[in-house]
Amino acid sequence: MTQYPHILLHIDGAWRPARSGKTIPVIDPASEEAIGHVALADVEDLDEALAAAEKGFKTWRSTSAFDRAQVMRSAAALLRERAGDIAFLMTREQGKPLAQSKGEILSAAEIIEWFAEEGKRAYGQIIPPRAPDVTQMTVKLPVGPVAAFTPWNFPINQVVRKLSAALTTGCSIIVKAPEETPASPAELIRCFVDAGLPAGVVNLVYGVPSVISEYLIAHPVIRKMSFTGSTPVGKMLAALAGQHMKRATMELGGHAPVIVTNDADVERAVAIMSGSKYRNAGQVCVSPTRFLVQERVADQFLDGFVAASKKIKVGNGLEAGVDMGPLANDRRIPAIESLVADAVEHGARLATGGHRIGNRGYFFEPTVLADVPLSARIMNDEPFGPVSIINRFHDLDEAINEANRLPFGLAAYAFTGSERSAHRLASEVESGMISINHLGLALPEVPFGGIKDSGYGTEGGSDAIEAYLETRFVTRKSV
Ligand code: NAD
Repeated sequence: MTQYPHILLHIDGAWRPARSGKTIPVIDPASEEAIGHVALADVEDLDEALAAAEKGFKTWRSTSAFDRAQVMRSAAALLRERAGDIAFLMTREQGKPLAQSKGEILSAAEIIEWFAEEGKRAYGQIIPPRAPDVTQMTVKLPVGPVAAFTPWNFPINQVVRKLSAALTTGCSIIVKAPEETPASPAELIRCFVDAGLPAGVVNLVYGVPSVISEYLIAHPVIRKMSFTGSTPVGKMLAALAGQHMKRATMELGGHAPVIVTNDADVERAVAIMSGSKYRNAGQVCVSPTRFLVQERVADQFLDGFVAASKKIKVGNGLEAGVDMGPLANDRRIPAIESLVADAVEHGARLATGGHRIGNRGYFFEPTVLADVPLSARIMNDEPFGPVSIINRFHDLDEAINEANRLPFGLAAYAFTGSERSAHRLASEVESGMISINHLGLALPEVPFGGIKDSGYGTEGGSDAIEAYLETRFVTRKSV
């Protein structure tokens, strides 16, 4: 597959254009060229997708978990077979280096397989009754058709977690995938279609995000929604879901603190965190952002991190040896430029980077800001780009207070040589996930989600399927 395809909707088992014929161009962020078009659904298409999801739900909920898993495993196998071709599409539309695109696709196959098995374990309970001829039990049932809204930073990974949890539990789903990066999620869906998923179980649309979410979330066919994206949009959609009493999972923004203590292995911390920071050009909700380094090792950490940042090779993700591609869309360049300029105006020191590279393609330098005051906007807003803040702290209380200062609570990281500090950090830092002395987030079998303004619910581990199940209590007296 060397051509970028024309991207269609997938509704009721058919790939087709929008009824209106509307499309918008897809832009390659490395060249700023239009490389294709994506079909834009409006209400007529959504009504068809809703009817298909309602029909698909009836078929799929009465398919056994065992048989559902067979289809999911076949889809995972197809995804692995097609990973090379799909990676090419993902890099063209999103910008990340090919190896990262391929890694995302292979990890999606693992996620599908893990969820395929987990659905077989949607156990209920037998509850001891108060009378000998009564049986009391709970059964787990699929919640119903789901609406999923996913962003452009991980075009496949953001879809696959919601899709796999829905499919393994017997739900049908309408995916509103990102218009900026539509081809790779379409190829993910194609693997399920080719694996034999019945028509209507999965439907794929693109369109004006607010139009689609307002219509789908409010619609009576939809019983649950899941959103990944920014906190302000998440709050709006959570309010809408609340108004219509819909179940919701919210995976929103973060501003991950990284606490490095005097007794930490500093070189290891620099190596692990600089690799993580520039992955996907920092456009990652769990990206390490606010580095809080204890005074005695602060200079060593800063020097090491700046040196590592300068070694990052930025370029077109299709080229060999490139570590970091362009930012994913034209909105990110002014967003990052203004955060950096504001930090410098407030007295931060620009230790490296800080500028756009060239004037074609959305390339930006790996950037490190040191000694950034709390009044700078970047200390409060998620940068969502290749920018690190490196500040110093005196004692652990101060670091924990700073980590907890923001309303976000998604990921946190820490590097320490002390068991006592590790224990305090694990219990006192307010975040949905904390990774200490290594990088261990986002595996299929572990929880993935935030607290506070970073949202609610988890998209990994055994809790993830609960959001797609309802618990029915059945009590029965023998006749
Ligand atoms: P944005 O807030 O407009 O959009 C973020 C995502 O939400 C996009 O996928 C968009 O299509 C979707 N969206 C926006 N309005 C919507 C609506 N009314 N209904 C349904 N979906 C809607 O901003 P953006 O410029 O695309 O991204 C900027 C910010 O979004 C980033 O700074 C980051 O904070 C956040 N973001 C977070 C993630 C994540 O993984 N949590 C991913 C992408 C973007």
